[in-house]
Amino acid sequence: MIERKEIKYYSSRGAKEALTSAQAIIKGIAPDGGLYVPDQIPKLDIDLTTLIGKSYKEIALLVLSKFYTDFTIEELQYCVDKAYDSKFEASEIAPLKKAGDAYFLELYHGKTAAFKDMALSILPYLLTTALKKEKENKTIAILTATSGDTGKAALEGFADVAGTEIIVFFPKDGVSKIQALQMTTQEGENVHVYAIDGNFDDAQTGVKNIFNDKDFAAELDAKGYKLSSANSINIGRLVPQVAYYVWAYVKLLEQEELQTFNVSVPTGNFGNILAAYYAKEMGIPIGKLICASNVNNVLTDFINNKEYDSRREFHVTSSPSMDILISSNLERLLYHLAKGGIALDDAAANEASNRAGGQVAALMKELAEKGSYRVGEPIASGLKDFYGGFADEEETLNAIGQMYKNNDYLMDTHTAVGYKVFQDYKKSTGDESPTVIASTASPYKFPESVIEAIMSDRASAGSQALVAGEAFAESAEADSKSPQGFEALDLLHEKTGVSVPKELKILREKSVLHEELSDKTKMAEMVSKSLKFF
Ligand SMILES: *Cc1c(COP(=O)(O)O)cnc(C)c1O
Repeated sequence: MIERKEIKYYSSRGAKEALTSAQAIIKGIAPDGGLYVPDQIPKLDIDLTTLIGKSYKEIALLVLSKFYTDFTIEELQYCVDKAYDSKFEASEIAPLKKAGDAYFLELYHGKTAAFKDMALSILPYLLTTALKKEKENKTIAILTATSGDTGKAALEGFADVAGTEIIVFFPKDGVSKIQALQMTTQEGENVHVYAIDGNFDDAQTGVKNIFNDKDFAAELDAKGYKLSSANSINIGRLVPQVAYYVWAYVKLLEQEELQTFNVSVPTGNFGNILAAYYAKEMGIPIGKLICASNVNNVLTDFINNKEYDSRREFHVTSSPSMDILISSNLERLLYHLAKGGIALDDAAANEASNRAGGQVAALMKELAEKGSYRVGEPIASGLKDFYGGFADEEETLNAIGQMYKNNDYLMDTHTAVGYKVFQDYKKSTGDESPTVIASTASPYKFPESVIEAIMSDRASAGSQALVAGEAFAESAEADSKSPQGFEALDLLHEKTGVSVPKELKILREKSVLHEELSDKTKMAEMVSKSLKFF
């Protein structure tokens, strides 16, 4: 028997309305622009060693049941069974592998070869179950902005799911070739995919504006549609991610005795690392939460200086899923830190929630108006659980090359950012606790960069494996040809022998079905068009 204490969901910006998780999953985003947050983060309250030997599904069910208390265990069991099945190429779902001085939690064995599958393979089931529970008979139009991986994972999850339409916007030049192809080849009667002439923040802002447009919502309502989101602002995305940090701890326990462990998370929209924070608050003994950014290092500065300043140059990097200057899920952390963790009676909890929401609303207003905000207490000291760092392009490729050379382990560019910042953390603190790196994508999703990293002399720096001339020849060869897309993928396979995810193997035979470009100011029109309003 799993003990459950009722959890309600509030807007992070203080709206007083309390929702069930089913209602929050359907709505996606709160009417005041806030994100839905649980009124408290539930405690696991069990002897954690009893989890040893449990399957991924069993652990996911446990975590979901603590947060989604309005769903029955049977409903959640159904969702978990549908999500975590043989569409994952690894039977363990998320294998934990040791390489060098770190553990890698491989979250990329789902259909799209990136960690978004962990949540997006279950979200359609949570959502359709929620619709049934709420006796909602409108068609749900899922609207999603993507920096590459969310879009494809959402398309895979929702394709041909009855009662839903799925509309995805991606930045034209902000995703890898393979990522773009994964989306533009998506089959399904209810799928709509558009490239926009802007970056990820433009896409995300456009989607948020559509959600906040009351007239548009009324028009949709009249036509029998209701908008929802598959972005990590949906609480139906966040909670399934908590499960794999509990899982990682259990897998670690099976391998070594430990007091605490750290996690390092390559971060963009702050969803994945927030899930790790929730796991820590649930009672998993996580020490430091290492927040790793690429050169779009707004979060590094925030954690170190307590000022969030998005007014800076935007960089397109080799880790495009982290090319983000406005990290939506940070808002949830601000809310929890502003509120404090103490369990309160209902009236006091309500008051604390309103106060925290008011504080967050003021910060988000500042962000929207001037592009920055500074946090005071208690948020500032609450950030002590986090370490912020970043890796530039050269450091990212070096990390891939060195790891491959020394440990025969292949990281993608995002994972490499997480690993490099973990190295910096270790150097600056001397903390030798076991550390889990969230491995967020298959190296085959970004083969151009990974091949460059392992074929240039980076991989042999400090070693004698290649003589200098050979290393130079190899790197010159890589430069002159610079293999792209499938050519890079094939070459990477030829050089490393690491197996290629099945879905990427068959991608090259698929036809491109979606080629439309959208002006970033015309996204609402594209939505109307997709839903056949005109
Ligand atoms: C989305 C994504 C990230 C960033 O995750 P957030 O939850 O947005 O912080 C990192 N790596 C990869 C490969 C991703 O797809």
